[in-house]
Amino acid sequence: MNRVYIKTYGCQMNERDSEAVAAMLRARGYVIVDTERTADVVLLNTCSVRDQAEQKAIGKALNLAARKRKAPDFVVGVMGCMAQNRGTDLLDRLPDLDLLVGTQKFHQVPDHLDHIMATLRGQGPRPSTIVDLEAEAGSQNTIRDHLDHGHDNGAGARQVTAFISIMQGCNMACTFCIVPKTRGEERSRPIDDIVAEAEQLAARGVRDVTLLGQIVTSYGRREFPFVDGRSPFVQLLERVHAIPGIARIRFTSPHPRGFKDDLVQAFRDLPKLCPNVHLPLQSGSDRILRLMNRPYTRDRYLEIIESLRRAVPEMYFSTDIIVGFPGETEEDFEQTRDIFERVGFDMAYIFKYSVRSGTPAAEMAGAVSTEIKERRNQVLLDLLHIQSLMRNLQLVGRTVEVLVEGPDKVGRRLSGRTAGNRLVHFAGDVRLVGELIDVKIERASAASLVGEVV
Ligand code: SAM
Repeated sequence: MNRVYIKTYGCQMNERDSEAVAAMLRARGYVIVDTERTADVVLLNTCSVRDQAEQKAIGKALNLAARKRKAPDFVVGVMGCMAQNRGTDLLDRLPDLDLLVGTQKFHQVPDHLDHIMATLRGQGPRPSTIVDLEAEAGSQNTIRDHLDHGHDNGAGARQVTAFISIMQGCNMACTFCIVPKTRGEERSRPIDDIVAEAEQLAARGVRDVTLLGQIVTSYGRREFPFVDGRSPFVQLLERVHAIPGIARIRFTSPHPRGFKDDLVQAFRDLPKLCPNVHLPLQSGSDRILRLMNRPYTRDRYLEIIESLRRAVPEMYFSTDIIVGFPGETEEDFEQTRDIFERVGFDMAYIFKYSVRSGTPAAEMAGAVSTEIKERRNQVLLDLLHIQSLMRNLQLVGRTVEVLVEGPDKVGRRLSGRTAGNRLVHFAGDVRLVGELIDVKIERASAASLVGEVV
């Protein structure tokens, strides 16, 4: 009765929240399973950024509710952004839910499940849906537990990469975005706590950490002072950089507004900071950027890219783009296509604009048809394919440093990543996991590289 499956929708922040919940549950004696088929409890950790993500999770929850009607002891919960966004309205469609938990209450899930489990063992009446959606001061400090994957990945290989949540919430007011509603105001964890977590991960064998937040470049803005012109975020990078076991540091997502000289300088001065920046652009048209309430212009964006390339010439760039924002004309889209090509993004998440009720953009005129959104989306996907392929082809014949992460999906080879975050497959012994090794690249596709250990 204690096997839990957690299904995660959406971003890395959600993945990290799910991992923390799994670790807390495991510490309470629950078993975390990797398929819903064998689970006694299924928790959906949901995303609200686009309607499609919400519909997928609702579809899955309806499906699980049908299973619950046949097996009443089966437990189903919905957590995270959609729970926060839709609140108890969700119960109109999903009256059978056992648990509805918001984005500031993940740490309460073990107590809630313990309570439900006790009632299934006959200790008291089973509650109707437990609803826990309030804001909670200090909740940003509760996402800190990690699963120790060391023994469960089948190959006996240790965990090499990890996410660390450094803050919660978002104070930006992008007109398209639901996140400020679902995640609340920006709240940052203390630097010392984050560093202690990174040290513990390093002691366990983790070598590559990704610092996570909705807008990481705003980290600690209100809580901690600038020191010698360096923002709290750059101070945090320096502290994590000083941890001996950590070989690589990444972060996501920053905001273009946060790329001041101190952060550009950090890329020059901190060799462990990986040459790979995810810099959400959203649109290449100044007119659309203004409508989106994004506080930069295309020229400023290009300036940031140039300054980072001057600091680290081989820098890799990825981005987020929204096509079909209300009022986006062919000329506006052409501006996006142009900047997409000029920067030569190596990776990108390209989204078709999705109306989020309650956001200012939902009230804007000039809806773009689905067909046009599809076409613009495809134009950028085609460009991305060519750009990624070209960038990967440049590595053929070269020897690159790869951090070995584990057996690849097929299980016949190992895989790892370059500092620039390119996926590499190669033959090798599982004892290499966690090592930084040289791999000579022999073949490339847009998605990955194949090589031989030197
Ligand atoms: N740090 C990021 C930034 O600077 O904007 C925010 C990350 S946001 C949670 C993830 C991405 O989802 C956004 O960058 C945006 O491209 C996309 N997104 C947000 N709202 C959207 C909407 N209504 N429709 C389509 N895509 C959306």
